[in-house]
Amino acid sequence: MGTKRMYEIAFVGLKPGEHEFEYELKGLFFKEKGLEEESKINANVKLTLDKNKGFMLLKFVTSGNAEVLCDRCGNGITVQLWDEFNVVVKLIANPDEMNEQETDPDVLYISLSESHIDVSDWLYEFVLLSIPTQHVCANDENGESLCNKEVLQKLNEMRSKNEEHQANSIWKGLEKFKEN
Ligand SMILES: [Zn+2]
Repeated sequence: MGTKRMYEIAFVGLKPGEHEFEYELKGLFFKEKGLEEESKINANVKLTLDKNKGFMLLKFVTSGNAEVLCDRCGNGITVQLWDEFNVVVKLIANPDEMNEQETDPDVLYISLSESHIDVSDWLYEFVLLSIPTQHVCANDENGESLCNKEVLQKLNEMRSKNEEHQANSIWKGLEKFKEN
């Protein structure tokens, strides 16, 4: 089975009602889907597909973890993934037309003659959306930040030097003004 097929669901053969699927997604999957940077993601997605007459409800629940860089000190940290996403897939005669008009990104129209649905784009998107956008090192039991202290100190030094430099240039500017 090729990688592409792995994320296709042959819904036409499913009985009405709920069906569960589970996907383990790692760095390679995200790279193949177009993520440029090397990612350390270990995601698990549980998909519940509820098949009804003329439409399907898809519920994606993401879990797992991802290694990211701390926003403050750049240390590698592991963050937990946890989120839920719902998609409605409707089977109709004129899907292209309806997809153009539809403003809700969580509604997709497919043709009545369709028998398979590829869920890989959703898996990719939803896992990435589950990664917290802001991440800093946690605090230890004493409430002290676990950020890399050396890096923070360097950053502070750089900042104060920069401020000093700016203050100096202002003075120089003023002196010039006085001389005239
Ligand atoms: Zn940090």
